[in-house]
Amino acid sequence: MSIKTSPPSKVIADIAIVGAGLVGLAAAVALHQAGFSVVLVDSKNPSKTDFSEDAWDARIYAISPKNVDWLRYLGVWPRMNQKRIGQMQAMEIFADDEKSPLKLSASDVNAEDLGAIVESKALMQALLTQVNTLAIKTLFDASCEKVVSAPQNVKLLLSNQIAIDCQLLLAADSSQSWVRKQVNFPVQKKSYEQTAIVANFRVEKPHGNIARQWFSSDLEGKNSILAWLPLPDNMISIVWSVSTKQADSLLKLSGCDFTERVKEAGGNLLGGFKLQGSLAAFPLNLQKTNNLVQDCVVLIGDAAHQVHPMAGQGVNLGFRDVVDLVEILKNKHAFQSLNDANLLRQYVRIRKADNFKMMLLTDGLYQLFESQNRVVKLARCWGFSQTKHQAVKKLLVANAVAL
Ligand SMILES: Cc1cc2nc3c(=O)[nH]c(=O)nc-3n(C[C@H](O)[C@H](O)[C@H](O)COP(=O)(O)OP(=O)(O)OC[C@H]3O[C@@H](n4cnc5c(N)ncnc54)[C@H](O)[C@@H]3O)c2cc1C
Repeated sequence: MSIKTSPPSKVIADIAIVGAGLVGLAAAVALHQAGFSVVLVDSKNPSKTDFSEDAWDARIYAISPKNVDWLRYLGVWPRMNQKRIGQMQAMEIFADDEKSPLKLSASDVNAEDLGAIVESKALMQALLTQVNTLAIKTLFDASCEKVVSAPQNVKLLLSNQIAIDCQLLLAADSSQSWVRKQVNFPVQKKSYEQTAIVANFRVEKPHGNIARQWFSSDLEGKNSILAWLPLPDNMISIVWSVSTKQADSLLKLSGCDFTERVKEAGGNLLGGFKLQGSLAAFPLNLQKTNNLVQDCVVLIGDAAHQVHPMAGQGVNLGFRDVVDLVEILKNKHAFQSLNDANLLRQYVRIRKADNFKMMLLTDGLYQLFESQNRVVKLARCWGFSQTKHQAVKKLLVANAVAL
């Protein structure tokens, strides 16, 4: 199916995607490979990103084994420098002051690893290269002006006067989604009043390809969740989620003092640390919407859901939105249009269940650790020891591998 561009400026495609972040780019590649004509729109131009490899990107993602396989199938994974990809072979979780961690190992479920740790920029570059190689139509540096959505088709008008006519419009334009607002999707949002600080360090002792995470409280009893993710060359990437007040004071520290705090918070497990590059900080929210579809508009990625990064699942969930949507569209009957209500209902049913499971896990764990209520604290100790139980452990690992 080819895209027809007729003068003065009308673009006709099966599917338009707004947002060329990791999820929108992956959707463009997957839908094109499934035989649909696609146009990808972004108000910025991701090709202008500085992709030079020298410095390590502070934005790092844990990508699940299933999504790694999918990205390989899309021809994206081999485009990344494999020497800069970390392997997560095990996870250790420390709760409160417990000295012995809960251990989850890939070997428990006969898997090679529990996921890959990649730089955001590297994955973005690989996806963009694939988009260009497949000659997928892109309209970058183009801001959206108007969406007219009807049950049978949708029109998107850009400020440069290009009008896109398509059967489906995918909103992949971030947690602040402009498309979602235009089509009036109701959204429930909760601020965690936390900020995640990310940074990379070279460490003294071998990390052993183990991801480590500490759940504890700060002096005011607020949650502190610190993750150390293994990178190649004995480097680690950290995600430290703390109250925004605490984050503000951590961000004011010198590089040396911040490094000391990170080492101490992880019990000095990996010896000396050397900060690589700069820190970055992100406010944390939980966001969900009951409707993932309205007429011909479909939400994917952070436009559809935003979860706490403690499980490293935001982009993984977004990729799974795409996997499920492509599967549903590929298997449609010849008489069904891409925006057939039954097809889109299937998408909503499947994705709501998956999103709900992840929100329940991350938000539930957050609440469990945040609560200062004594009764809940007791239940929490009970819960954690239960978690150590072999069966639950297997379930957790299976979940991690399947994601
Ligand atoms: C600290 C931290 C750590 C994380 N770690 C992990 C992890 O380890 N694993 C994981 O899976 N997830 C992780 N996440 C979550 C992950 O970052 C997000 O889920 C993911 O980036 C969302 O991708 P997206 O493509 O949906 O949206 P975005 O990355 O937000 O991209 C949206 C795109 O839409 C474009 N856009 C916005 N508005 C418009 C508009 N009006 N018109 C046109 N284009 C527009 C933007 O320019 C952008 O290109 C983490 C998040 C945080 C904060």
